[in-house]
Amino acid sequence: MIDTHAHLYLKDFEDDQDQLIEKALEVGVKKVLLPNINRSTVEALHNLCDYNTSFYFPMMGVHPCYIKEDYLEELAAARKLLENQKYYGVGEIGIDLYWDKTFEDEQKEAFRTQLEWAKEMQLPVSIHSRNALKHTIAIAEELQDGNLTGVFHCFNGSKKQAKRIMNLGMKMGIGGVITYGISGMEVVMSFIESGAYVLETDAPYLGPQPHKGKRNESSYLPLIANKIAECRNETLEKVIEDSSKTATLVFFKEQ
Ligand SMILES: [Zn+2]
Repeated sequence: MIDTHAHLYLKDFEDDQDQLIEKALEVGVKKVLLPNINRSTVEALHNLCDYNTSFYFPMMGVHPCYIKEDYLEELAAARKLLENQKYYGVGEIGIDLYWDKTFEDEQKEAFRTQLEWAKEMQLPVSIHSRNALKHTIAIAEELQDGNLTGVFHCFNGSKKQAKRIMNLGMKMGIGGVITYGISGMEVVMSFIESGAYVLETDAPYLGPQPHKGKRNESSYLPLIANKIAECRNETLEKVIEDSSKTATLVFFKEQ
């Protein structure tokens, strides 16, 4: 299994890194992709990736919640890093209108800018959408010219939106929310094509049941895969195989 979206470089995890990796490997999680948040998380992100280069893989970008007055400086810093070292994606990027709409225009502009970078550098994207899926899908549709790849992370949209993402040739990241018993999401999960979704934890957030509300970690990924298998009426093995193949195709295509 591949955890395609986790923030394991945050302070929540600084005391038990070795156990975290061990527990994840034990349940079959082989790789973890780490999207950046903003300038303040870069150092911790790089340190963790250097700590275990065959388990952790960094992405670079500016999270929409940190697109504020100084967003041009944030973007410039991320751009410079992307030009100077190896990353496995541009992320996390997107639009978040849940907490604060003050910088809606700037968020949209920064999202477009970072999507263009991803196309130019032939990197996949990890897209965050909160109260904003209609905007992120519409912008991705506008900028899709055959070169845009990546994942709508923490997907919890409708069948119609899932269809539009599949038409874009992009994937949906499925995490702990699928275990929260929201029946609409379970129905949508059964509708998504077998090659159109990947697994993710978004750790430390969105712990799958029975860890809802507590610190999430990559070793909980099988709980998510299990629930997906149940929704799709498939075996756990098939879900693991399909999602791993898709994640490899999106993030590790040159290996
Ligand atoms: Zn995230």
